[in-house]
Amino acid sequence: MDLLKDTILRLLRERSPEYVSGEEICRLLNVTRTAVWKHIQALRENGYGIEARSRAGYLLTGVPDKLFPEEIGQGLSTRFLGRNILYCDSVPSTNNLAKELAAQGAADGTMVVAEEQSGGKGRLGRHWSSAKYKGIFFTFILYPPLIPSEANVLTLMTAVAMAEAVRNETGVAAGIKWPNDLLVDGKKICGILVELSAEMERINYMVVGVGVNVNQEENDFPEVVRLNATSLKAHAGRVISRVKLLQAFLKEFEKWYDISLEQGFAPVLARWKEMSVSLNCPVRISTPNKSWDGWAEDIDSDGALLVRLPGGELKRAISGEVSLRLSE
Ligand code: ATP
Repeated sequence: MDLLKDTILRLLRERSPEYVSGEEICRLLNVTRTAVWKHIQALRENGYGIEARSRAGYLLTGVPDKLFPEEIGQGLSTRFLGRNILYCDSVPSTNNLAKELAAQGAADGTMVVAEEQSGGKGRLGRHWSSAKYKGIFFTFILYPPLIPSEANVLTLMTAVAMAEAVRNETGVAAGIKWPNDLLVDGKKICGILVELSAEMERINYMVVGVGVNVNQEENDFPEVVRLNATSLKAHAGRVISRVKLLQAFLKEFEKWYDISLEQGFAPVLARWKEMSVSLNCPVRISTPNKSWDGWAEDIDSDGALLVRLPGGELKRAISGEVSLRLSE
């Protein structure tokens, strides 16, 4: 959004439910009435409800549930996360764009949000269905003072933050399936894909990509994923504000990130365990070459899943390498 449009919107928002006269906007911004009208039209095209009344001026009557940076920024109380947002109506992949921005040195906490991804991906390059205006698709950039082996915990931290945000904003009891999914009643409502650029002892940057199924109907999902996917709307029984959910997530994530950098990962891992639906149950772990069955007993301090094999041996499963199925 350009600066003038942004300033007009801010003014209307500050004054709502009062009208702001066209004359005042012209005077404050030093522009003509025609220019003001043009920007009002552009805001309306973006979905803002603006009433125009002769002599009274303009009144903001409604805001769209688009993921516009102006909307996400409204009342956002984070210190650094999501303070700098790149908005895309459509993009092939928010992770790929974020990686390009990170390579160019984008600020810590910079976020790419998209209304739609044409080539959204999950782990191992699998497709991620990203229906336009229905879900939230976003990726944020971090420069964590961590070593590469600690990166997996960031996936778990993201899951904790999103599960908290979902529970608080929608009342839907989302549970975490190790390592990167959120489930409701056994179906996926959120996937997480963390990617990093690293050297032996140092992370250059990390991008954390999240896709959340918010207001999808069943037929918004391609047939192949329909059986295992669901949306928050389907469980809450109402349309969910994507902006509010995203704001709640950003706040939660930043909180857990700060706690972890100060105190280590123990607090976030403890919360992860409380919200997990993939612990203390039988699981099947699959790598591209083989599968093994066992009992999901715990997670390690680095986020690895500890699985007790039938013979008694405790085996570590590391995220990124394996898929997990909850056994019957
Ligand atoms: P798995 O689903 O086997 O546990 P995973 O957790 O590694 O694997 P990801 O690679 O993160 O899954 O996500 C990709 C998979 O998720 C796809 O193969 C597809 O089955 C499913 N999927 C794709 N889009 C969606 C969506 N919008 N909601 C839920 N599931 C989806």
